[in-house]
Amino acid sequence: MDTPSIGSKEQLVSTIKERCRVCYTCVRECPAKAIRIINGQAEVVAERCIGCGNCVKVCSQNAKVFRKEINKVKYLINSGHKVAALIAPSFPAEFSEIKNHRLFVSLVRAQGFDYVFEVSFGADLVAREYKKIIQSGNYPPVISSDCPAIVKYIEHYHPDLVSALANIVSPMVAMGRVARDKHGSDLKLVFIGPCVAKKDESEEIDAVITYRELREMFAEKKLKPAEVLPTEFDSPMGGRGSIFPVSRGLLNTMDVKEDIFERNVIVAEGKRDFQEAIKEFESGQIAREHLELLCCEGCIMGPGMSPYPSLFPSTGRRYRKRASVSDYTLHKLDTMNMETWQKEYQEYEKIDLFRAFQVKDIRNKRPDAEQIKEALEKMGKFDPGDHLDCGACGYDSCEDHAIAIIQGLAEHEMCLPYTIEKLHNYIQELNISNERLASTQEALRQSEKLAGMGQLSAGIAHELNNPLGIITMYSNILKDEAADDDPIRKDLDLIAGQAERCKKIVGGLLNFARKNQVNIVQTDINHLIESAIQTIIAPNTIDITMESKVSNPLVPLDWDQMTQVFTNLIRNAVEAIPDREGNIRIKIEEKESEVVIHIQDDGNGISEEDKTKLFTPFFTTKPIGKGTGLGLPIIYGIVKMHKGNITYVSNANPEKGATGTTFTITLPRIQT
Ligand code: ADP
Repeated sequence: MDTPSIGSKEQLVSTIKERCRVCYTCVRECPAKAIRIINGQAEVVAERCIGCGNCVKVCSQNAKVFRKEINKVKYLINSGHKVAALIAPSFPAEFSEIKNHRLFVSLVRAQGFDYVFEVSFGADLVAREYKKIIQSGNYPPVISSDCPAIVKYIEHYHPDLVSALANIVSPMVAMGRVARDKHGSDLKLVFIGPCVAKKDESEEIDAVITYRELREMFAEKKLKPAEVLPTEFDSPMGGRGSIFPVSRGLLNTMDVKEDIFERNVIVAEGKRDFQEAIKEFESGQIAREHLELLCCEGCIMGPGMSPYPSLFPSTGRRYRKRASVSDYTLHKLDTMNMETWQKEYQEYEKIDLFRAFQVKDIRNKRPDAEQIKEALEKMGKFDPGDHLDCGACGYDSCEDHAIAIIQGLAEHEMCLPYTIEKLHNYIQELNISNERLASTQEALRQSEKLAGMGQLSAGIAHELNNPLGIITMYSNILKDEAADDDPIRKDLDLIAGQAERCKKIVGGLLNFARKNQVNIVQTDINHLIESAIQTIIAPNTIDITMESKVSNPLVPLDWDQMTQVFTNLIRNAVEAIPDREGNIRIKIEEKESEVVIHIQDDGNGISEEDKTKLFTPFFTTKPIGKGTGLGLPIIYGIVKMHKGNITYVSNANPEKGATGTTFTITLPRIQT
C-alpha cells in the first residue's frame, strides 16, 4: 500500500483571509519576505516560504495556519504497515504536565504507533559527525544543516553558501534511517515535533505532525495519562542528544566545551541573528569554521509548540521550556544505562548520514535605481531626509519597501506616514466637499424660497399694477381740472406721488420675480461700473477703488438694470461701513466664459441670523425711511434675468475678526 498524498500538495503555510487584519506583523517577522500584500490582503508566497512558521507564531488573529497532516498519519496507521513515531527531543518542553515521560510514550503508542523512538539518538549520531568535522582541523567553513528552515533559506536566497552546508542529515532523518535499519525499509515514519519546516524537509519521512496536532489526536482519543500504563521509548534511546532542542544544543550534544571552540564556532539563533550571521559570513567579515544557525531561538521555540499563554499549563515561555528539557536530559543521563547506549552508539557508527543540497535560487533581480526612486517618490519620499525607515510597513527600510513594491510583494499603502498623509488629504477634501455641499444645499434652499416668494410677488404686483395705474391717472386728471389756487391740488399731488412710489415698489417686485423685460446689448462692464460709482454719494473717508483684469470688457447686459444692481450693492457697502471710514474694492475678472465682479467692503458684515433672510423682499436692518428691503431682491432678479449668479461671503463676528462682506456677481459672456 502506497503512502497517500493527503495534504502533501497543500501549501505549507497559508493565510485565512477572513481573519487577517493586515497589521504587517507577518511581513516584518518573515525572514524570507514571503508575505505578499495584495489588495490589502496578506498572502504567503509558497515558492518564497521557508516554512519557519514565524508568521504563525506572531499572528495575534491566528490568521496564519500550517498544513496539518493528522489525516495522513491516521491513514498510515490504518494502512497495515508498521508505523514508527519519531519524537523530537523537545517533547518535555511541550508536555511537561505529564511528569513521567513513559506515560507520554504510552499515550503516543495508544494512537496506534508500533514504535515510539526518541530523535535524540539521531541527534547523538549527527553530533558525532559534526564533532568529527570540527576536530579534523583542516576543513572549509561549514554551516550546520540541522534546521530545515535555514537550509531552505540558504538554498533559496544565498545559493553561493549551499556548498558550505554540512552534508549531514538532520537528527530526524538520522533517526528515521536507524529505525528503518532496525525494522526494515517498509517501516513508515512519522515525525512529531515543534517544527513546521520539517513537513517539507525530507521525502524519507512519511508524515510530520507538530505537538499541536498531536494534542488534537490525544483530545480525539480522550485518553488521559492516568489511564495508560507507562512504557519506555523503543531502543536505541537517546543520550546527550536530548539537550539538542535548546539554545546551543548541538554544541552541548557534541559534549565540547564551548570556550575551546570560541574562536571557531558562531551560534546565531532567531530570525534577526541568523540573517546577520549569514550576511557577515557571505561577505567574508567573519571566517569561523563553524556556523551553527537556527531559525527559532532553539527548537523549543518552534511554531508547532502550543502557543503561550495556552490551555496547557506546561507550555511556558523559553526559559521554562529550556528548564523542562534540561531537567529531562539530566535525569536521563543520571539514570540511563550508559553501556547500552554506548553499544548502540558504536553500532551505528557506520550508518550513512550523508545528505546533499541543491541550489534553488529564487532571488529577484534588484530593480534599477530609477525604478526605486520612482516607487519612493510615489510615497512622497523625494530625498533621503524623507526616509523614516520606521519599519511600520514590515520592511527594514523605505528602500526595501520600494523594492518589494516593484517586485509585486508590497503596496504603497503599507507606508504609514504616506497613508496618514493621504488620509489627511482625504479628510481635507471631504471637509471641503462637505462645506460645498452645505453651501449648495443652503443656496438651493434659498433659491427655492426666493422662487416661491417671486411667484407671490409677481401675483401681488400684477394685481396692484392696474388699480395703481387708475389712481395715478385719475389723480392727475383731477389735478388738471382743479384751479391753480385750489387747495385740493396739494392733496392730489400727494396721492399721485404716493401712487408713483407704490408703482416703483411694484416694479421692484416684478424685477425680483424676473417678470420684467431686459434689453440686452454688448456693454463695456468697466465703463458701466465706473459710472455707477459716480452716482454714489459717499463721504471721502470711504475709499472706493475699481480694478479690472478683463481683456475684453464687453458683456451682454441691460445697462439700466445692471446699473441699478451695482449702485445698490455699492450703496449697501457704503452704509455697512462703521463710522464712515473704510474701503470698498471692486474687482472685475474673467473666468472662462464668464465675467466675475467682486464688491468687497470692510464694513460690519452680515450676522448669521440675517443671512437666512437676505434676498427676502422687505428685509432690512436699516431705519424706517432709509431702507425698503427691496435692494437685494431686485438685484437677485436682475442678475437671474441675465442668467448670472450672485453669491456673498460675510463675517460679522468681531471675535473672529470681522472682515466685512464681499458680494460676487457672475455674468455669462454669451446670453442663450
Ligand atoms: P435695504 O438696503 O433697503 O435694507 P437690501 O435688500 O439692499 O435692502 O439689503 C437688505 C439688508 O441686507 C440690509 O438692510 C443689510 O442689513 C444687509 N446688507 C446688504 N448689503 C450689506 C453689506 N454690504 N454689508 C452688510 N449688510 C448688508
